[in-house]
Amino acid sequence: MEQRFDAIVVGAGPAGCACGYQLAQSGLQVLVVERGKFAGAKNMWGGAFFGPTLAELIPGFWAEAPIERYVVSNKLSCLTDEACLSLEFTTPKFRQLPYNGFTVLRSKFDRWFATKVQETGAIVAAGLQADDLLWEGNQVVGIKAGGDELPASVVIACDGVNSILAQKAGLGGELKPQDVKQGVKEVIALPRKTIEQRFNLSGDEGIAWEFIGSCTRGLPGGGFIYTNKDSLSVGIVVQLDALAENQVKANDLLEDFKRHPAIASLLEGGKLVEYSAHLIPVSGINMMPRLYTDGLLVTGDAAALVLGTGLILEGANFAVASGVAAAETTIKAKQTGDFSARSLAHYRELLEQSFVLKDLKTFSKAPHFMEKPRIYTTYPELACNLAERLFTSDGKPRKKAWQLLREASKGKISLWQIALDLMQGKEAI
Ligand SMILES: Cc1cc2nc3c(=O)[nH]c(=O)nc-3n(C[C@H](O)[C@H](O)[C@H](O)COP(=O)(O)OP(=O)(O)OC[C@H]3O[C@@H](n4cnc5c(N)ncnc54)[C@H](O)[C@@H]3O)c2cc1C
Repeated sequence: MEQRFDAIVVGAGPAGCACGYQLAQSGLQVLVVERGKFAGAKNMWGGAFFGPTLAELIPGFWAEAPIERYVVSNKLSCLTDEACLSLEFTTPKFRQLPYNGFTVLRSKFDRWFATKVQETGAIVAAGLQADDLLWEGNQVVGIKAGGDELPASVVIACDGVNSILAQKAGLGGELKPQDVKQGVKEVIALPRKTIEQRFNLSGDEGIAWEFIGSCTRGLPGGGFIYTNKDSLSVGIVVQLDALAENQVKANDLLEDFKRHPAIASLLEGGKLVEYSAHLIPVSGINMMPRLYTDGLLVTGDAAALVLGTGLILEGANFAVASGVAAAETTIKAKQTGDFSARSLAHYRELLEQSFVLKDLKTFSKAPHFMEKPRIYTTYPELACNLAERLFTSDGKPRKKAWQLLREASKGKISLWQIALDLMQGKEAI
């Protein structure tokens, strides 16, 4: 490979594939390097993918992509050790094309996406790890990979959380434990019909279900279940520094979660087919590295472009959108022949105009707000306690809801503190 590429994309996750696809479609000479045996070989996520961003790049992608199910229902539950209080949202709109979200398994989905990139004209080199950057003075001019030097006008770092390339370019430092969550996930096989009965689904319908409360033993984070065709993605996401400080293992939390009375019956008879763990950058704009330098752009998780408000965890569509923005910047830079930082600054402008930086700015206070332990302890307990009082019929005269709230919160939290948290929550999320 002695040719000089217009662009080398490092990493074939959603960011790298979206970037490579857009570049190759515009006729640029593109090399995508992926360290996994194949794209998706080592990748994981919870499982819900919001489609509209990818649909702009590949219209009607759901007809050919290995989609598990389309999400017709979003559910959020509070857990105590025994109880579960749920809020579920569904609308006929989620059953209509282009659909709001999909569940996918990365090993199939990334592989499909990388094949699309290849079909569009890029070279996708799987099993090849980018070890370092090539420099000419202050300008990045390619990568070192597998003992070779591979020159390019622009390198696009799509190498995920803890990006080696961003660090080597001096754009980002090492990850801090308070800025990342540890995710652990099991894929549990169950017959298709059983999944549909247990989750009240039919055909290819699916559910995205998030949990907060006792499943993380009060540590910042939550649990999730996503329905696939004939399996469930079941996992826990927890703040890394909290795990270390409390000497708790994420895997033990996952085992607790699976044993919870509201969850165990959903998983009964299931067979573990896959286990994976991965970090998620969750401090958004507060941890974002510089996004470009001479000859280099940083996208997706490598740039911490993830929205984690506590209620929502979205990274895949941010990865796709930033990958496309990096491609558009590279295409423009090729037209002028200027690959300096000044020219590549266009990338940041594109992200500022899109939902990517707008959302990260809107929710910049969310990560700090969501660190409050009582969000994961006091409030789920209060909500379940209140629900129990509301729904229990014990033959005694009923009390008004306000009185029940006072009783349920007594000795646990003052109503002033609740009001204060609501005010801060309003600001943050
Ligand atoms: C438990 C968990 C649950 C999640 N749930 C959701 C969800 O429900 N919805 C959602 O939208 N997002 C979710 N996310 C976040 C989402 O997975 C990421 O935001 C998204 O995958 C980022 O895409 P990316 O392409 O930037 O990085 P990645 O998907 O991490 O891809 C990076 C790629 O680069 C490759 N690579 C790394 N280093 C090198 C190198 N030096 N040389 C060559 N290749 C390299 C890797 O092998 C990988 O293929 C979740 C994440 C986790 C961990």
